[in-house]
Amino acid sequence: MQVSTHWRLQEQRYNLVGETCEHCNSKLFPPRDVCLICEEPAQELFTFTGLGEIYSYSTIYDAPAGFEHNAPYTVALIKLNEGPLVTAQLTDMDNDELTIGQPVEMVTRKLRTDGDEGMIIYGYKFRPAI
Ligand code: ZN
Repeated sequence: MQVSTHWRLQEQRYNLVGETCEHCNSKLFPPRDVCLICEEPAQELFTFTGLGEIYSYSTIYDAPAGFEHNAPYTVALIKLNEGPLVTAQLTDMDNDELTIGQPVEMVTRKLRTDGDEGMIIYGYKFRPAI
């Protein structure tokens, strides 16, 4: 695999990549090919800053298979600075610190370990922005 291709794949996995609608300039996440606002094709990739604020959240005490080791954990709806809402796990914060509207930033973290082979899945989470 070429270095540049590899880097591009990494970038898509570890950054919040969505799409920009060339027609109305809406920012879309996740990429969905058709703009939610104007229904024109939206195919320009766009990398979000990863900055946003907590829009709502809920704490999960009964974790699904694969997530048991980090229960309880908190899943939040994050309103990105560019507009879209994303669902993500929060990290590096206590539940009693949480407030609606709190600024957060994206970080790459281990999400879970898959099965006996121990394949580690990475993805994004959000933590308080300083
Ligand atoms: Zn549009």
